[in-house]
Amino acid sequence: MSSLPALDLLDAPANGTENDLAGRFVTDRRPRISLQQVTKVYGHGSGAVAALDPIDLSVRPRDFVCLVGASGCGKSTLLNLVAGLDPPTGGRLEVNGRAALMFQESALFPWLTVSGNVELALRLQGVPRMARRTRAAELLHTVHLEGFGRKRPHELSGGMRQRVALARAFAQDADILLMDEPFGALDAMTRDLLHDELEALWRDRDLTVLFVTHNVREAVRLADRIVLLTSRPGRIEAEFPIDIERPRRIESPEVSSLASVITDRLREEVRRHADA
Ligand code: ADP
Ligand code: MG
Repeated sequence: MSSLPALDLLDAPANGTENDLAGRFVTDRRPRISLQQVTKVYGHGSGAVAALDPIDLSVRPRDFVCLVGASGCGKSTLLNLVAGLDPPTGGRLEVNGRAALMFQESALFPWLTVSGNVELALRLQGVPRMARRTRAAELLHTVHLEGFGRKRPHELSGGMRQRVALARAFAQDADILLMDEPFGALDAMTRDLLHDELEALWRDRDLTVLFVTHNVREAVRLADRIVLLTSRPGRIEAEFPIDIERPRRIESPEVSSLASVITDRLREEVRRHADA
């Protein structure tokens, strides 16, 4: 071991980055996503709909956070704000890093082939043509769609289209994946496969994931942390750290029992809202 590194290498610079002992850029400790007192109101006057009450949420690099809540509680609203698709009405929202989005509907370009849809994401990042072909084929293999590259989206089932959308999201080489009920319409077998692929990608590429679902078991299967929203207007009702060892199986007793605790809490919240 050589002499001790200069002290200034051990101090994190003010911009939040940090150097390892060789002075190499290693990590950025700023939250990837930070919401402070963020609110969202749709419309004005008597027709205004308060979708989100003040939300405080911080998602660090490599976190896997699942947002759960009753339908209409503002989950998609929150994700759309983070994606920059819509501005917040109030508060402060900060996103550090590049985000890729995936919705329940695959939103593929119908005139491009399956491979073309994935290659487009690569092209937008400046990946050269030959490398695009190879990389798209690898990604389609990852989502178990090898051999389907030349098909058009309408020739595939809904589940297969969603797998293409996942390959396309992976192709964006983003730091942050924002996912809005991406597997809600899939059969259980396909969904389980894609959970495994998503988990592997998250682990191998140090991704940060913000994943919306109303399926509590799915959230427990995937998340480091579950954030439970109240009914509209959405507020954070509770947070649950998930310490179950990975890899997890959605049907395992640990996942099931924790999911039932969180589901009870969600039911209680929905009932309270209905009584209010
Ligand atoms: P979730 O994804 O949790 O089901 P949403 O975020 O889609 O809920 O919606 C939260 C509330 O905001 C709902 O009452 C919905 O009707 C309303 N809402 C969502 N988007 C809009 C919009 N663009 N204009 C007006 N109201 C909206
Ligand atoms: Mg939604």
